[in-house]
Amino acid sequence: MDLDLVLLGTSGSVPTARRGPASILVRRGGEKLLVDCGEGAQRQLLRSSVGLVELSEVFLTHYHADHYLGLPGMLKTFALRGRELPMTIYGPPGLNELFGSLQRVFGRLTFPLRLVELRPGDALERGDYRIVVFKVHHGVTAQGYALVEEPRAGRFDVEAAKALGVPEGPLFGVLQRGEAVEIPGGGAVRSEQVVGPPRPGRKVVITGDTRPARSVLEIANEAEVLVHDATFSEEERERADETGHSTAAQAAELARVAAVRLLVLTHLSNRYFGPEIAREARAIFPETVVPRDFDIIDVGFPERGGPQLIKGGAVGSGEEAETHGEHGAGGGGGRPHGGGGDPDDPALRGDPVGARARGHASPDGARGRATEGAGP
Ligand SMILES: [Zn+2]
Ligand SMILES: [Zn+2]
Repeated sequence: MDLDLVLLGTSGSVPTARRGPASILVRRGGEKLLVDCGEGAQRQLLRSSVGLVELSEVFLTHYHADHYLGLPGMLKTFALRGRELPMTIYGPPGLNELFGSLQRVFGRLTFPLRLVELRPGDALERGDYRIVVFKVHHGVTAQGYALVEEPRAGRFDVEAAKALGVPEGPLFGVLQRGEAVEIPGGGAVRSEQVVGPPRPGRKVVITGDTRPARSVLEIANEAEVLVHDATFSEEERERADETGHSTAAQAAELARVAAVRLLVLTHLSNRYFGPEIAREARAIFPETVVPRDFDIIDVGFPERGGPQLIKGGAVGSGEEAETHGEHGAGGGGGRPHGGGGDPDDPALRGDPVGARARGHASPDGARGRATEGAGP
């Protein structure tokens, strides 16, 4: 079962030239769940290889504007298209009240919109996985979401089955289901002779905005992927605490204690590019990435190498992916300057942690360009 995260917006509080506000698309098999919907999320989808698909579920972590302003526009677009497919929006208590106000913005819709308020401790059962709501610590009503898969069947040892005289075919399936089989030459084979112990499912935890929190530490225990707030670096620790956010080092320390496989840092303040956040976190927890918009986190099963960052993995075909390849990180003959692209567009295929300022000094300067580097 494929499972990945498309980072549609990775900036904190305000958009920058390169980063849109919070929005992550979680894809599992054919399902697509949008977690937060910052301003411009519909355009990020359009620009990506995903496209503005008819999402049927949106999960909001809290009601700061940078996490939901993209919804009215997106709903309006769906209505203009004459969409009929129902949509459900989940969020902490306050969702109905929020939509009382937003309704005036997007007007009448052509499709049923269902609002569901969830609280920490709630879980949505989805058959082979569930979505668990957990508390975060952000100073306002806020919560995170964890996608938790059920354990998988153990590994089937084809060679062992053949050696025991089980012919290839339907009997394999019976054994895989945990039942014993009679074999043609006489005798029986028990499931546990050829099927390993059940393997744990995957867990992906998305915090939204938060200070370091015990509840996050608990749910993130041994998660494949923890997507955590890293709005600031340590030099702004006090500010992080005042505003209900985390520093890169705090997120890394939590990831280390929780023994997650991959820490994904997001919601960066506009004063940071990414590399400084990555460096700070990696000193504590090396398995950290700081993706850019349109990067993908592929949540592979442990036996297939585990989760990994795919740089620019969701860049749309219509986008000109900028590649600067100073250290070969970008590769592929991109034109660093000029060409048809928007000069403010992100260097989409670059190393998300290798970007350095080139040209202008202002970290968020409209013409500040990123240069690819191999990263630390
Ligand atoms: Zn935020
Ligand atoms: Zn917030």
